Amino acid sequence: MIPFSYARAKSASDAVGLSQHAAQGKYLGGGTNLVDLMRESVEQPDALVDVTGLSSAIERRGDGVLLIGAAATNTALASHPLVREHFPMLTRAIVSGASGQIRNMATVGGNILQRTRCGYFYDDAARCNKRTSGAGCDAIDGFNRIHAVLGASPACVATHPSDMCVALAALDAVVHLEGPQGARTVRLVDLHRLPEGRPDIETELRPFELITAVEIRPLSAASRSTYRKVRDRASYAFALVSVAAALEVDADGCVQEVRLALGGVAHKPWRAWRAEEALRGQSASDTCFRIAAEAELADAVGLRDNAFKIELAKRTMVAVLSALAGVQA
Ligand SMILES: Cc1cc2nc3c(=O)[nH]c(=O)nc-3n(C[C@H](O)[C@H](O)[C@H](O)COP(=O)(O)OP(=O)(O)OC[C@H]3O[C@@H](n4cnc5c(N)ncnc54)[C@H](O)[C@@H]3O)c2cc1C
Ligand code: SF4
Repeated sequence: MIPFSYARAKSASDAVGLSQHAAQGKYLGGGTNLVDLMRESVEQPDALVDVTGLSSAIERRGDGVLLIGAAATNTALASHPLVREHFPMLTRAIVSGASGQIRNMATVGGNILQRTRCGYFYDDAARCNKRTSGAGCDAIDGFNRIHAVLGASPACVATHPSDMCVALAALDAVVHLEGPQGARTVRLVDLHRLPEGRPDIETELRPFELITAVEIRPLSAASRSTYRKVRDRASYAFALVSVAAALEVDADGCVQEVRLALGGVAHKPWRAWRAEEALRGQSASDTCFRIAAEAELADAVGLRDNAFKIELAKRTMVAVLSALAGVQA
């Protein structure tokens, strides 16, 4: 048993102050990932600062921006009428993850910062650069079916497990932070890092920074959006590949606006910038969707067990875009 203290924060500044008093303090959301990691001794905080009492409001500001308190539960966000109406991909992404009970506990802040599901990361008998920098990586020559095909490095081939974050990446959500130096914002697509030589450094967060909220700006294409998750089982399975997509087609059948992000393929939610670029102004046809998917996956590298993800990602992108365009895939 490793002892730790517990305190419940009354405000964001209180939370930041409390975490600064500890050597290895962690913020506690629903605990659905952190507590598991503590049981496995992967995380060993000496203090938990419970942030579930902070803002969980989900409201539309005067400028149309949807502001989501970081303590909102995954269930509250997925079922909110504004989200269901204007950002259906976000609802679909959240409800495709975990189980109803876990989504009732899990918070938006905790979902964003949940850690990889690489089995070697959870196994303290395995070598893992994410757990111990410089230790090596047993996944590269091991069982790597669920691992990354884009943006990986010789140090780490893990993927980011969140479904919600894939939709937030496609929607270009902005994350609000509060830390000892004050408040700031970071685009979600810039928050998570690729592994490079330091997979143990997973985000651009500064020491003690707390996620306080997430904002999503209005996007007309998002009302025609969806999320498709391909996985080994119908429930309780993380994405092998997932696609969040929004598509707006003009009267001539050309792509006016498109947003695309992939899950299950990289160390971070993967915004498909190349595919978006390849599609804008092109005809909303299967041929153009395939060209865009090829462009996005052009640099993908498969390992022994996961090379199938490259073709799977392409086909899922085409299928999702075709469905949104009303074209028979
Ligand atoms: C059986 C099972 C199946 C699952 N399946 C899926 C799935 O299919 N798809 C999916 O996306 N997820 C899945 N999950 C993961 C689940 O979504 C996450 O565990 C959950 O979203 C984490 O939220 P939480 O509030 O419980 O975070 P916690 O476990 O409390 O915290 C997670 C991390 O976030 C940090 N943190 C929490 N809040 C803040 C904050 N406000 N600011 C800064 N740091 C913070 C914590 O310190 C910790 O490092 C599954 C989980 C389980 C147990
Ligand atoms: S892939 Fe990353 S998380 Fe998994 S064992 Fe290698 S270094 Fe660790």
